Amino acid sequence: MSKFWSPLAASLVPYVPGEQPKDKQYIKLNTNENPYPPSPKVIEAIQAAANEDLRLYPDPTSGALVQSLASYFKVSPSQVFVGNGSDEVLAFAFAAFFDPAKPVLFADITYSFYKVYAEFYGLQADLIPLDEQFRMPLEQFNTRENGGIVIPNPNAPTAMLVPVDEFRSILEHNRDQVVIIDEAYIDFGGESAVKLVADYPNVLVIQTLSKSRSLAGLRVGWAIGSEELIDGLNRVKNSFNSYTLDRLALAGAVAAIEDEDYFQEITVKVNQTRDQTAVRLRELGFVVTDSTANFLFISHPDQAAEHIFQKLREQGVLVRYFKQPRIEHYLRVSIGTDEEMDVFLNVIADIVKP
Ligand SMILES: *Cc1c(COP(=O)(O)O)cnc(C)c1O
Repeated sequence: MSKFWSPLAASLVPYVPGEQPKDKQYIKLNTNENPYPPSPKVIEAIQAAANEDLRLYPDPTSGALVQSLASYFKVSPSQVFVGNGSDEVLAFAFAAFFDPAKPVLFADITYSFYKVYAEFYGLQADLIPLDEQFRMPLEQFNTRENGGIVIPNPNAPTAMLVPVDEFRSILEHNRDQVVIIDEAYIDFGGESAVKLVADYPNVLVIQTLSKSRSLAGLRVGWAIGSEELIDGLNRVKNSFNSYTLDRLALAGAVAAIEDEDYFQEITVKVNQTRDQTAVRLRELGFVVTDSTANFLFISHPDQAAEHIFQKLREQGVLVRYFKQPRIEHYLRVSIGTDEEMDVFLNVIADIVKP
C-alpha cells in the first residue's frame, strides 16, 4: 500500500502470470507457450521491418493486418479489431460492452483474468459453477440476468470444449447483451464461433497469435464481430492508445496469418503429442480431462497435486498449479515437444509410483 496509489490502484488484485524463472533451465510446461518456433517467414518479416521507418508511428488502424485477418476468416475488414495481445482486446471489450448495472457472467473455474477485469471496471461478477465433470452448464447463461457474458472455448484451465452450435441458444436468449467467446485455444481441435458472427450481432470472438502461432512474445490478438461491436472496441481503443500495435508486430502478424502450411504443421504435432501424453498419463493412473487445447488438466487419486508440482519443479519441470477451491487436486500441463514430454512423463511416473 502506498499513499501515492489512487483508490482504484489500491483496490486492485492483479492477475498473476505463470512464472518465467531465470535461475536454471526448466522444461517449461506452465504457460501454454508453443514449443515450436514461429514460422521462419515471421522472423524474416520482422527483420525486414526493423528499419528506419521505426521513426514513424505505425498505422493506427493496423490496416494490413485487419485486411489479412478479414480474408482469412472470410469477413469484412469492418468486422475485425486487433490489439496488443488478446488480453488487451478482452480488457477493451469489458469496457466497451459490459453494463455495470448488471453482473457479468462467467464460469467459476475459468481464465482468472476475467475476474481481474471485472474488478478493474467496477463490474459485479456472477459466477456460474461448472458441473462435477467441469462441463459448462450452458442453460444457466440463458436465464440469469446479466450485463454481458464471457466464455473461453475450450475453457481454461479445464481444456474442455463446447461444440460451437451450442452457443446459439445463449446468443438467442441474450440478444441485448454481448457474449464474448475467448478462443485462445480453438485451433487445437475445436470449431470456431466466427461462423456465428453472420447470424448474431451480439457475439464477439477473440483469438490470439500467442498459442497456436507460437508468438506469445509478439503480443497480437484480435476480435471478430458485427460492425457495431468493432466500432465499440475502436471507441475504447482510441480513448486509450491509438497505436496499440507496433510496426514489428504488424509485419510479423501478417506473415504469421499468411503462413497457413507452417501453422497446420506445428498444430498437428502439438495435438499428436497431447493425445499420446494423455494416454500415458491415464496409464499412470491420472484422471485427464478431454483436451482440445495445447495443455492437459490432470489429477492423481493418490498424490496431492501440490506435491507433484513441487517435485516436478525440483527436477526442472515447471507446470501450473492453482491453489484454488475445486481444482486444488489438479495440475495444468502445457504440451511441449515429444522429447520434453518424455522427460516430463519419466519424472512424473517416478513421483506417483506406489
Ligand atoms: C493465453 C490466453 C489469453 C491471452 O492471450 P494473449 O493474446 O497472449 O494476451 C486469453 N485468454 C485465454 C483463455 C488464454 O489462455
